[in-house]
Formats: sequence, structure tokens, C-alpha cells
Amino acid sequence: MENFKELRDMMVDTQLIPRGIKDERLLAAMRKVPRHLFIDEFMHKAYDDMALPIGEDQTISQPYMVAIMTELLELKGDEKVLEIGTGSGYQSAVLAELSLSVFTIERRAALAERAEERIHALGYGNVQIRVGDGTLGWPEDAPFDRIIITAGSPQIPKPLIEQLSDGGIIVAPVGDRFSQQLIVARKFKGSLSEQLHTPCMFVPLIGEYGWGKDED
Ligand code: SAM
Repeated sequence: MENFKELRDMMVDTQLIPRGIKDERLLAAMRKVPRHLFIDEFMHKAYDDMALPIGEDQTISQPYMVAIMTELLELKGDEKVLEIGTGSGYQSAVLAELSLSVFTIERRAALAERAEERIHALGYGNVQIRVGDGTLGWPEDAPFDRIIITAGSPQIPKPLIEQLSDGGIIVAPVGDRFSQQLIVARKFKGSLSEQLHTPCMFVPLIGEYGWGKDED
């Protein structure tokens, strides 16, 4: 049996800290959350420096990508966070460690169901999962202090900008179908100011304010 705790520590020490991840709470969360339990078939590669398949042609992001996106959210612990693209549920668990509450939307019911089982088995009581088109947001529980989109989009969906609190931050991969750049957008007095960050490559955000279904 592999020593997963040791592999997790090695992941943090060799993949995250040398690339500049500094937030101590985030590093502690990534040393804690059992990433291997969010991956079925490729469990033995769970702590490798790569994205991995999770079924349904979708992926769990590379550990560094989870870390940098989370760090850019600047979580202090009292935020209400909306995640678009639950996937395996791993990013949701990391967010649950670092914020007050997490609302996460996945369009594929089979992935959402498995993610929910994992999240509940690990005892996270502050995560709500819904199946649907995340580009429409979660209007009943808006506004959100932070929004993270974990699928590549041609733009930040308008409903999500509307559902962000004033002073809030959205982190999203924005670009064309096969390559994007992380955008960090802050909302002040109703308007967004955007900064470009790391280049990246995500599966597409499919929905009314994302890519069309023919891109699926
Ligand atoms: N955060 C995930 C994790 O930790 O495993 C990885 C997410 S994966 C890169 C992107 C996910 O976004 C896929 O599971 C995909 O089905 C989902 N997705 C794509 N378009 C969506 C939409 N409009 N609403 C909700 N989920 C969507």
C-alpha cells in the first residue's frame, strides 16, 4: 500500500512551493485532502504533476493548477464560494477546507453523483452540489464572494458576473477551445477589472454562456 500522505507532502514540496505557491492555509489543505480518493482508475498517479482522466471524457486538474487558481481567490475563511465544474469534487474539497461554504455545479449527473459521495464520505458539511448548466450560476444563493470556473470558456459568463459580490473575485480560464489563460477579475462598483495570469488548457465549459454542445 502506498504511503499517500508522504506522496502528498512530496507533491506540495516539489510541485507547489518551488513554483511560488505561498499561502500557508492552502499548502496545509493540499497536504491534507486525499486527492487519490477522487480518482478511480489512475489512483497510483494521483500525486503526479499532471491532470488525469475522471471518466465521461473529463479531467481532474493538475495539482499546481488547483493550487494557483485557489491562491488567486485569496480565501481567508469566511467566504461563500461558487465553483463551476465539480468534476471529481477534489477542487471543491480544497475550497471547503479554506472557506465558509461552497456551492458547486456540474453538468454531468454521473460525475456530480460520484463527487457528492466522496465529499460526504470525507465529512465536508459545507459543500452543496447541483447538476445543471453552471454558466447560469446559482441565483437563489447569490451573491458569492468568490467564483471559480474550472472549465475553459470563451468569456466569463454574464450571469456569474452579476452573481459576484462587490469586492468579489472570479478566477477563470478564458480563451479559445484548446488554450486559455487564467483571468483574475475583481468587481468594484458593478464593473470588472481583469488581470491575465498563467496560460492553461482546460476541457470546455459547455452551456448557454459558454461553448455550444457541438464542442462537447
Ligand atoms: N474541478 C474539477 C476537479 O477538481 O475534479 C475539475 C473540473 S473538469 C476540468 C471540468 C468540469 O466542468 C467537467 O466535469 C465538466 O463536465 C464540467 N462542465 C463543463 N461545462 C459545465 C457547465 N456549463 N456547468 C457545469 N459544469 C460544467
